[in-house]
Amino acid sequence: MNVKEHIHNVLEQVIKRNPGELEFHQAVKEVLETLEPVMSRRPEYVEANILGRVVEPERVIIFRVPWQDDRGKVHVSRGFRVQFNSSLGPYKGGIRFHPSVTQGIIKFLGFEQIFKNSLTTMPLGGGKGGSDFDPKFKSEPEIMRFCQSFMTELQRHIGADTDVPAGDIGVGAREVGFMFGQYKRLQNEFTGVLTGKRINWGGSLIRPEATGYGAVYFAQEMLKAKNDNIEGKTCVVSGSGNVAQHTAEKLIELGARVVSLSDSDGAIYDPAGIDLEKLRFVMQLKSIHGGRIREYAERFKGVEYLQGSRPWIIECDCAFPSATQNEISLADAQVMCANGCRLICEGANMPTEPGAINLALSSGGLFGPSKAANAGGVAVSALEMSQNSMRLKWSREEVDQKLQNIMKAIHIQCVEAAEEYGMEGNLVAGANIAGFVRVADAMLDQGVV
Ligand code: NDP
Repeated sequence: MNVKEHIHNVLEQVIKRNPGELEFHQAVKEVLETLEPVMSRRPEYVEANILGRVVEPERVIIFRVPWQDDRGKVHVSRGFRVQFNSSLGPYKGGIRFHPSVTQGIIKFLGFEQIFKNSLTTMPLGGGKGGSDFDPKFKSEPEIMRFCQSFMTELQRHIGADTDVPAGDIGVGAREVGFMFGQYKRLQNEFTGVLTGKRINWGGSLIRPEATGYGAVYFAQEMLKAKNDNIEGKTCVVSGSGNVAQHTAEKLIELGARVVSLSDSDGAIYDPAGIDLEKLRFVMQLKSIHGGRIREYAERFKGVEYLQGSRPWIIECDCAFPSATQNEISLADAQVMCANGCRLICEGANMPTEPGAINLALSSGGLFGPSKAANAGGVAVSALEMSQNSMRLKWSREEVDQKLQNIMKAIHIQCVEAAEEYGMEGNLVAGANIAGFVRVADAMLDQGVV
């Protein structure tokens, strides 16, 4: 069987075995399509059916999460943990609370996580979890009861050397705290079983900032390779949560002009630029579950609110999609290209649709894929695990320096892998290949398991 046929068969099998899981199909297709030259050069991967194995999660856990709201009404949410691949270390990946969460969404995120974690070169397997629970407009006691119920089941399946969850959409330090508290109570142990903890009880400095800062460091590396710099660039950022806020913060610090943020209801356009003071307002606003970005336009003069719109219609040099998957369509990318956007750096996971990625790459723009560009979050989570194991705490400067080095190293790996396999400048292929090869080699070493 030739390599093309092998890849085609694996993809067909994924579609057949996982009906309706469109995002998972999309994520697998994107990776597999770029692996042809690797599979051709490494027949032992085909022989050992590495692809057939890597697309199948090692374990999928689905569970009932009953909880009571403040009026005493009983609700039932669904919990998921996909333990996808442990060839490089304990499963590692965030937990997402959002009504759109399904098994397919968690599988796509878990699959991406395998290669992202591999790119960090740290000892991390890939996993992801979540629930269709919607934290928006819930009281703090409701969120606490939900987190406790979620962890009451999840605690059986995780552990500091088994599976180490973190935050994602709808899960920040507060939710991690509630889950950690319940884990500790049930297991009677204080270990680094979750990352993204608050700094005063085991968290790492720079962890909240890491994904956003890391994405900007990655963009800097892409620009540096072209003898360019982020300073003075007009940037649009989508989302207004953890990743978007810290992306904007680092961009502002480095002298870029950030003119937009958004949420699921709309986007704001601030032609004067968002400064650190205005950003503090957004951070405050979003610290309450359900705070709306519309209020930014009401608070500051000269700001336009684009109801129901994403920020891609706004003219910019660089775009940082930092909200959710598939938020840049081909049509959006066409508008962005026409408006002169020359760099897309993915802070969110898989925010750009395949057609839009192809357009960005073929038009000669710079494209930083999420596996590489947003790996700063999980990398600092790994640093948090190290600090927890050693029972010590590194300074802000130390962690930030390590993060910068990691993002540089990831960029180099992507560039070199793309070059080695004849796809120079294509960091999507570079990230997939560099991430995959490390996992595939470990799987070969560990036998058919
Ligand atoms: P947050 O919950 O802090 O913020 C999410 C933001 O995205 C909010 O502004 C939210 O708006 C918006 N959003 C969520 N869903 C949608 C949707 N369906 N349509 C439009 N807007 C939406 O999450 P994070 O910032 O942590 O995560 C953002 C992205 O970054 C995700 O793709 C996540 O997987 C990825 N990521 C996060 C990491 C982390 O360390 N936190 C690490 C690596 C990747 P609203 O308030 O209206 O819901």
